Amino acid sequence: MTLRTPLFAGLSLLVGAVAACSNPTETTDAPEAAAPVPTLTLYSSRHYDSDKALFAMFEEQEGVKLDVREAKAEQLIETMKAEGDQSPADVIITADAGSLWRFQEAGLTQVLESEALSAAVPEKYRSADGAWYGLARRLRGIAYDPSRWSPEDLPTWDTLAAEDKAGEICVRSSSNIYNLSLMGEIIHRYGSEAAQAWATSIVGNMARNPQGGDTDQIRAIAAGECSLAIVNHYYWVRLGASSTEADQQVAASTAFLVPEFTAGSGSHVNITGAAVASTADDPALAETFMTFLLSETGQTYLTTETKELPLLDTTALPEGVEAVPEFTASDVNLGVYGENQAEAQRLFDLAGWN
Ligand code: FE
Repeated sequence: MTLRTPLFAGLSLLVGAVAACSNPTETTDAPEAAAPVPTLTLYSSRHYDSDKALFAMFEEQEGVKLDVREAKAEQLIETMKAEGDQSPADVIITADAGSLWRFQEAGLTQVLESEALSAAVPEKYRSADGAWYGLARRLRGIAYDPSRWSPEDLPTWDTLAAEDKAGEICVRSSSNIYNLSLMGEIIHRYGSEAAQAWATSIVGNMARNPQGGDTDQIRAIAAGECSLAIVNHYYWVRLGASSTEADQQVAASTAFLVPEFTAGSGSHVNITGAAVASTADDPALAETFMTFLLSETGQTYLTTETKELPLLDTTALPEGVEAVPEFTASDVNLGVYGENQAEAQRLFDLAGWN
């Protein structure tokens, strides 16, 4: 016995050494090693330094490693489809409820029933079945030349379709998700026939063929190509907050308003939001992350650079957003943007909105 004990001890040491050599990165067998750090893989269509700073805070606070992979929403959907069951994705963050709906439709999300998230996010800013939750708000409205128009000329989206706006409107293509979601709410409220008539009138009032992004439309107003543009509020706010003098001049020579659909209807609101990926293996950790994004710190960091509106009323507005006129939000659940997305594109096509 006294002879065998050291023999066995030596053997087990040797086995340990072989195991260590075969996988030099594996340290979890060592008695002094800490538990492995859980990793949360985030697929995000956003790319802001402020997001990175916020994610670093989450890593520090929760002892979690965030693996962030950024790409356009359409690319993320294609990547996740190609990866299938093997996708590392745990959480998806993307702008526009219509975009979140595309992930949901493709079966890339899973339902998360969360008391914390349901308490933080108003019902209209999350999917009815818990497939996605809003994180920040954004407004689609009208940028205009204040030497030509006043807010009284443009109280509703209908007034943009009136004959006195002929040749005045700049807007991006109809396949853009922001336009599809706006149209989705118009269809929900007034039906396809009225929605198509509206789109046809807008096409008739265009100053040029749809092209470029929202910022390009605001620049076109400043350049005198048009006097009205359909754009999201933060593009206009960012021009005003830009360090470039030319951008500041573009913002200063234009104004922005948030129309209603009809008087008292409230205004079109969209979101940046998050969903738990269908492949997430720790939905509770995903929920912890999403809840963090809806904390005061999360809300501040998500909106300071983007110039979106916080989802929480208690979080201060980012600098520059105070220039956006007060509005009342529509009560429509944002799920209708996705539900009407295909119809919206069909009606845009019929209206000749490229
Ligand atoms: Fe945008």
